[in-house]
Amino acid sequence: MKYSELASIYEALESTSKRLEKTYLLSKLLKKTKEDDIDQIVLLIQGRLFPQWDETKMGVSDRLVIKAINIASGNSTAEIEQEWKKLGDLGLVAEKLVGKKTQATLFSKDLTVDKVYDNLRKLPTLEGHGSVDQKIKLIAELLSSAKPLEARYVVRTVLEDLRVGVGSGSIRDALVWAFFGDKVKVNYNQEEKKIEPENREEYKRFVEAVQHALDLTADYGIVAKLIMKKGEKAFGELTLEPGNPINVMLYQKAKDLKDAFERVGKPCAIEFKYDGFRMQIHKKGKSILIFTRRLDNVTNQFPEVVKYAEQFVHGKNFIIDCEAVGFNPKSGKYLPFQSISQRIRRKHNIDQMAKDFPVEINVFDIMLFEGKSLLKEPFKARRAILEKIIKPHEKKLVIARQIITDNLKEADNFYKEALKVGEEGVMAKNLDGIYKPGSRVGYGVKVKPVMESLDLVIVGAEWGSGKRSGWLTSYVLACRKGDKFEEIGKVGTGIKELEEQGVSFEQLTNLLKPLIISEEGKVVRIKPEIIIEVKYEEIQKSPTYESGYALRFPRFIRLREDKALSDVSGLGMVEELYAGQKK
Ligand code: AMP
Repeated sequence: MKYSELASIYEALESTSKRLEKTYLLSKLLKKTKEDDIDQIVLLIQGRLFPQWDETKMGVSDRLVIKAINIASGNSTAEIEQEWKKLGDLGLVAEKLVGKKTQATLFSKDLTVDKVYDNLRKLPTLEGHGSVDQKIKLIAELLSSAKPLEARYVVRTVLEDLRVGVGSGSIRDALVWAFFGDKVKVNYNQEEKKIEPENREEYKRFVEAVQHALDLTADYGIVAKLIMKKGEKAFGELTLEPGNPINVMLYQKAKDLKDAFERVGKPCAIEFKYDGFRMQIHKKGKSILIFTRRLDNVTNQFPEVVKYAEQFVHGKNFIIDCEAVGFNPKSGKYLPFQSISQRIRRKHNIDQMAKDFPVEINVFDIMLFEGKSLLKEPFKARRAILEKIIKPHEKKLVIARQIITDNLKEADNFYKEALKVGEEGVMAKNLDGIYKPGSRVGYGVKVKPVMESLDLVIVGAEWGSGKRSGWLTSYVLACRKGDKFEEIGKVGTGIKELEEQGVSFEQLTNLLKPLIISEEGKVVRIKPEIIIEVKYEEIQKSPTYESGYALRFPRFIRLREDKALSDVSGLGMVEELYAGQKK
């Protein structure tokens, strides 16, 4: 296919915001694509060169693209940057500058989709000495034979910022329209430029089948190709394959345990809800692969987990669903997710990281065992397999704690126990539920305490040190008792968190400084005036604070400049919330 054909589809997609029209354009493109090119086209249409689960990144900087435009157009880098400032998009810059040049060269060859795809896929493979120049050359070569519009999209693809607004749902629907159009009887509405299925039931069935295929393979290319080749038969052939990550099953939220019972049925399984991050571990023969919920391959980042899976899970061939939870290597105490999140992206000093930030793997489901898909098996049968094949080792790899009950009291005790040991809450699961990849079906629900929010006034702070010197930090908070204020906690958020809320330490310091009543060392007392909204996980009784209560894990939410001192949350409300939470 000529790249110009693809470029004009991109342009058409970019110029409409209507989803149905986008789907129509995509289905037209898919229809005229040859079988050999289909995987390439579905990737390019998403602005990708590699499937979602492939960790390969293009890694091309703006600088490099500017250099390539410079070579292809003859314009100086200064001129290019000037245009960039004006247009705000290097794609448009390339369109303007490179295009001019190629129109003049009569003998430039037509760019093909193959050529673009091949050149761009080479980029991430180049490393080491001279690789920068080679990369520039590959991009410049494409730009030199690109027509203006083509240049726009080559550059945007290189920079992984295609901006044509195609969501995964549109591609899925377009696959149905393109390849099962005769079965679902699509009608084209000339005026509104959209097509609609006449046979709605059949259409729904195909959409679900394609979605399921996508959830299993997480790869549009594989799905599209097989559908093109085999039509409806493809669905029977698309199966789980260890090594190919799948979209994991998601859970809904229940209000409380009673609601959970109503939704998943009684008796049900109740499990600890661990606070870590999702991991799917695949074993295929001798090799173990680990993927995150977003399908990133993190095998290299977790060498110890590879070992655990080899040692403590018996089987040659499996896919298991787990939660990796961090713990303090010295005290053994479990840590919240944030403390280990850095391991996910880490590329260096991996072994040291594994020592400093160890994780425990809590296995809670299994999707495939010894080559056989377990997706259609009831949950209790999947759990039974887990119990058979896993040799639990604490602080390494264990099975999720579970009870089976139809009794609210028993469930509540288990829930309390989960919270007491620092877990997030519990999951309630239907014993007969199947494993439905990618969907938030109600076979399982989560129950966790709601984070409440309080409006509190700042009555104290500390002068920061190091990076924070010159700023007031660590704010002492108080609730209202009549017209007095009593301390209830301290919020010492990170700069990042504050900035996400649109405030900085500097801004807060400027607000608080004029209100300082007294200073003693680093500690200052502040006249109550600045009100902030704070969320927390729990209220505890406390002998240290004068209010008699303390907030567990308070978090800054926002400044409440709209509130008056009389609006500050009262001690009565705190007492009520405390009592409510005991229930
Ligand atoms: P949420 O992220 O709040 O939607 O809660 C669902 C997440 O809880 C899942 O994606 C898992 O990462 C995690 N989780 C922790 N423990 C379990 C468990 N026993 N069963 C299922 N998911 C769990």
